[in-house]
Amino acid sequence: MNDHPPASSDSQPAASRAARPFLPPLKKPVQFVKGVGPRRAEQLARLGIGTVEDLLYHIPFRYQDRREIRKIRDLPLGEEGATVGQLVRMGRRFVTRSRRWVLEGVVRDETGFLFLRWYNQHRYFEQRYQLGQRVLLFGKVEMGLKGGKWMIHPDMELLEEEEDTARILPIYNKTTEMTVAAMRRLVHGAVAEHVDLIPNSLPSEITARLGLMDLNIALRHLHFPPLDADLMALNTAASPAHRAVVFDELFYLQLGMALRRRNMVKEDGLSIVPGPLVRHVYEVLPFRLTNAQERVLEVIFRDMAAPHPMNRLVQGDVGSGKTIVAFCAALAALDSGYQVAFMAPTELLAEQHFRTLSPLAEKLEVSLTLLTGEVKVRRKQELYSLIEQGKVEIVVGTHALIQEGVRFHRLGLAIVDEQHRFGVMQRAALKRLGTNPDMLLMTATPIPRTLALTIYGDLDVSAIDELPPGRKPITTRVFHEGERQKVYRLVKEHLDRGHQAYVVYPLVEESEKLDLKAATNMAEELAHTFFAGYSVGLVHGRMKGEEKDKVMQRFKNGEHHLLVSTTVIEVGIDVPNATVILIEHAERFGLAQLHQLRGRVGRGQAESLCLLLAQYTPADESHRRLRVMSETNDGFKIAEADLTFRGPGEFLGIRQSGMPDFRVANIVRDSRILEVAREEAEAWLAQDPDLTMPASRRLRTVLEDRWAGRLELARVG
Ligand code: ADP
Ligand code: MG
Repeated sequence: MNDHPPASSDSQPAASRAARPFLPPLKKPVQFVKGVGPRRAEQLARLGIGTVEDLLYHIPFRYQDRREIRKIRDLPLGEEGATVGQLVRMGRRFVTRSRRWVLEGVVRDETGFLFLRWYNQHRYFEQRYQLGQRVLLFGKVEMGLKGGKWMIHPDMELLEEEEDTARILPIYNKTTEMTVAAMRRLVHGAVAEHVDLIPNSLPSEITARLGLMDLNIALRHLHFPPLDADLMALNTAASPAHRAVVFDELFYLQLGMALRRRNMVKEDGLSIVPGPLVRHVYEVLPFRLTNAQERVLEVIFRDMAAPHPMNRLVQGDVGSGKTIVAFCAALAALDSGYQVAFMAPTELLAEQHFRTLSPLAEKLEVSLTLLTGEVKVRRKQELYSLIEQGKVEIVVGTHALIQEGVRFHRLGLAIVDEQHRFGVMQRAALKRLGTNPDMLLMTATPIPRTLALTIYGDLDVSAIDELPPGRKPITTRVFHEGERQKVYRLVKEHLDRGHQAYVVYPLVEESEKLDLKAATNMAEELAHTFFAGYSVGLVHGRMKGEEKDKVMQRFKNGEHHLLVSTTVIEVGIDVPNATVILIEHAERFGLAQLHQLRGRVGRGQAESLCLLLAQYTPADESHRRLRVMSETNDGFKIAEADLTFRGPGEFLGIRQSGMPDFRVANIVRDSRILEVAREEAEAWLAQDPDLTMPASRRLRTVLEDRWAGRLELARVG
């Protein structure tokens, strides 16, 4: 136990680390850096910087081009520029038009005046300066309404001698208590004295082949970019120095993941082989499987036949036909005498699966049943006993499947639809209903393959990357609230042609009641005004299952032309005659969610339309984000964009559980490097599986350090 003390605070290197010769100096408290006293150390700690190493890795998030400091007269309009001048005025002013206080200043040099303005600037910012001081300014230069050169929200610093030189200036994350310049001084102190402590731990064979800079040189460059550096590359984290640091981080990530995979004990599982049911299913299917479906199914059958539990994630865009693939897998389990549990995240979706699969099950003489929270207690007890006796072969259901009381006779396969809507615990609970059953997970929120391999390290991943034939692509258009009437007209055109439409309202949790009212009122209003003469239905999450079901059924039968709903229709529902979907408050949805909603249309032969009605201001990111929807129908691209906008942490609620933290790398932005790192890590392990070769010595030490006990390296070597 003593070898693994509880996670030590950063200022206190773990005892186990002390034994290693080259890392300890880096783990020293940040006070070892010149200029860092107790007060600074405290401020740095608030930024998560506790050690010398932390400070070295606190890399700039942006760079300014101060290679050229111009006279005010020579500052080009519309571009960023740097200048030096004397502060001649500074003060707050109330702007009546925008009703807020602004801070304004004037700077002068021998060629002219430059006007400055800041919004929301803290008091102590202005207190830092006195009239007459020489300051350095950096910002975009604009022409004022009444003439004159302005910089809005420039960076301003007191000029110190060392700052006077032309260079690319690194900008560090600001702390409210520390000036940018102060932070810069500290980091530079750390670099000057300590950067050479950063070891080159990667095998030189790899770094040489990939042309990677030494890590210490890379860090030096990031903090002191050479004068001829490519500014654009620096600002997009694409410089050679970034590449070296990012590769280093991702290599250790992938090395650790690969070791983990190898250490995973292959449990014993069931051996399931397709038989007559699988052979017959092709005769009862109303269509031929796509090549992608066939291919994925083949892989699934191979997994199921192996004497270990299957753990496969199938990613497939909305409408790619995952349900039927799952059903075929289920039949294979029945062929081998096992039962199947098929879990979906909502009642509606479970019901729909049940309805889609029932006719097929009937023709194949397979017993299929539905188990949801809606099922009455008596019927439930009855079902429980049928399931326990093995008289029901396939159980489609919701969370109700993993409730107490459900016991299977011989569960062979557990299917989870829309798996990202379930937690790890719920999936585990489902798995426990059998003895190491095969697991088939499905998701319509695909993520790029490399990322999937990284995030779902312990799953096998395959993709249905093809849609059934005859699908027309959906046209998506983004509208602003002001264009509402136009949007309605577009919807009406489709209704007039005999098609159906969805109108979707998002519910925001904190104002669920209000939103629900809005949706209800809107349904009323539409029915009596713009869409008078058409039948408008309403479904929302607060309705009873039966009620909901009735409305949905009526919509499916074409009795309702327009269906106003909250997001309850998000997944699954399949009405080919519906050709328009109007999404209100589109800005409140994530892209992946919008994509799923959009997938409700485009299911028939007719041209389909997705209308996004949003509230945004021009400066808003949401418009740019929503435009992605009109640019592509490809779920993978959308997932990628969603990842970029929201970051991997938010996306799907993935926390990088059990993975080392990254200081520089971003697994979305750096997905190319992530891939290379994976290949290199695998290749290295193929050569030195136990990391015992001399060239792996440092590798091992750093690996353990990065994963900080999360790897159980003890088992290796
Ligand atoms: P998702 O992958 O989004 O869950 P579904 O399984 O609901 O997609 O399938 C969407 C629709 O496509 C359904 O109506 C289904 O019957 C149909 N479908 C599935 N596979 C095929 C195929 N190979 N050819 C034609 N239609 C198909
Ligand atoms: Mg589905």
